[in-house]
Parts: sequence; C-alpha cells; structure tokens
Amino acid sequence: MEEKDADGNRLLENLRDASAGAFKCIQCGICSSSCPSGRHTNLNIRKLVKIAGRTTEILSNEELWMCTTCYNCQERCPRNIDIVDVLLKIRAISVHKGIILPEHREVCQMLIEKGHAVPINDANKEKRIEIGLEELPETVHKYEEGLEEVKKLINSCGFEELIQKKEGTDARGAKT
Ligand code: SF4
Ligand code: SF4
Repeated sequence: MEEKDADGNRLLENLRDASAGAFKCIQCGICSSSCPSGRHTNLNIRKLVKIAGRTTEILSNEELWMCTTCYNCQERCPRNIDIVDVLLKIRAISVHKGIILPEHREVCQMLIEKGHAVPINDANKEKRIEIGLEELPETVHKYEEGLEEVKKLINSCGFEELIQKKEGTDARGAKT
C-alpha cells in the first residue's frame, strides 16, 4: 500500500509526478561521470534517477542533498532529462515532510536571520576588493535596512515554519 503524507495526499503519487522526466532514463551513466559532487561525496546521480518516482525511500537518502545544482548532468543527458529539476522537486516534497539534512536546516536558518544563506566574512570582502568589486554586494549586506523587508517576505511565505517542521528524523535517519 502506498504511504500517505500528513495531508492525506498520496506521497508516492506526488513523487511520481515530480519525477516524470526520470522515467525516460536509459541508465547510461553520463550524468554520474559528469558530476563534480559525486567525486567528493556519495552522490550517485544515475542511481537516484533510477529510483526517482519509484519509492518513497528516496526521501531518506542523504544523497538527495549532495547535489550542488551545477546542472552538468542535465546539460549532458542524452535523453534530455530535467535531472536537477526532478531532484529539486523531490527535495521540496522532502522538506514539506520535515525531512532535511541538519546542515541545510542551518543554512536556511541563516537566511532567515541574516538575509543570506552564506553571510559574507572578512576573507570574502578582501577577495571582492582584489577582483575589483565593492567590498559588499548589493544586498542586505550593503543595505542593512532591507533586512526587515527580507524577513517579512520570508515570513509571508511560511518559510520559517516549513524549516522548523521535523518528522522526527533528519535525512540521515538520525533522531531530531
Ligand atoms: S545521463 Fe540521463 S539517461 Fe543517462 S543515466 Fe543519467 S539521467 Fe539517465
Ligand atoms: S547538478 Fe547535481 S547531480 Fe548534476 S552534476 Fe551537478 S552536482 Fe552532480
């Protein structure tokens, strides 16, 4: 029997819809051989594409969170599969289920507090100057008064609430 999510929706059906493009995969492996993240992490994008839309277990697979969204694989796929877009849709389903890696939750929290997923530091300020940029980017770093507006936007779309949501385990299966 298919697992159902809290809203009574059919989880596997949602995953199937999100993964529609992946069913064209011929398992050639070009995506994996093009994947820079896979050289440094456990990510095997070919295998993820293989199970996308076929099992709810993909939500507890931490490889889902190892993709840097560089789009190398998507550009090279001979079947023109929207690999990254499929992954992002599955991640969204996962987050709505309260399953996310703790590191990603922290990055989201940073966005909520600072208006940036990766706040600037002194080393990056120096690098910016070295390559001829202004010390601070045209964001809330430079226009601090804009931070309240960013926070309002984040609140208005329920992002904070979504990020706080926890299923009881993180994407590595650890208790939260
Ligand atoms: S490159 Fe495309 S067709 Fe080949 S394994 Fe990857 S997703 Fe499948
Ligand atoms: S988009 Fe993700 S899966 Fe594709 S090559 Fe880049 S890191 Fe790998």
